[in-house]
Amino acid sequence: MRYSPSVTQLIAELAKLPGIGSKSAQRLAFHILSLEKSQVKDLTEAIVSAHHNTRLCQECQNYTDEDPCAICSDTRRDRSTICVVESPKDVSTIERTREYKGLYHVLHGVYSPLQNVGLDALKIKELFSRLQRHDDIREIILATNQTAEGEATAMYISRLVKPSGIKVTRIASGLPMGSDIEFADDITLSKALKARHDF
Ligand SMILES: [Zn+2]
Repeated sequence: MRYSPSVTQLIAELAKLPGIGSKSAQRLAFHILSLEKSQVKDLTEAIVSAHHNTRLCQECQNYTDEDPCAICSDTRRDRSTICVVESPKDVSTIERTREYKGLYHVLHGVYSPLQNVGLDALKIKELFSRLQRHDDIREIILATNQTAEGEATAMYISRLVKPSGIKVTRIASGLPMGSDIEFADDITLSKALKARHDF
């Protein structure tokens, strides 16, 4: 099936998004074409403005409009604990449990030599600079996913942090091995946080 150059280009751009195969890209493209002009304007403006206004929080490296972000600047949070996660979506997953009151650190990925993601690509340097700047940090919770890559990343960070005397814990594996914490239900994730162990 051949489409006009404009439609073909729209489908090609959408297909570059993660998790979008060519069929989904076609479906999205035809949905976009069926929208009212004002809806298309809202959609494109939301993309442009999110991209323009969003930066990384210089503390936790999460996406934010304000730096530092709402969590880092919330004085009610426990500033002695940092939960290290792979991606911004993990922060919202853990926040949803309402179990955790500390701060976060977002790595923006996980050590994955097979996919050409080296340790330098992760926000690990930023984590260490944080540990040096704030001497009130007492515990690092490693909440990377329970996959081979997540384990390897947790192990690496643990080895680097331990000599500083800061306690390092790993979320408990009430979570199935090979699983993303994104898909854990709230109760399992709450339990995994509570039952974290020395690492
Ligand atoms: Zn922050």
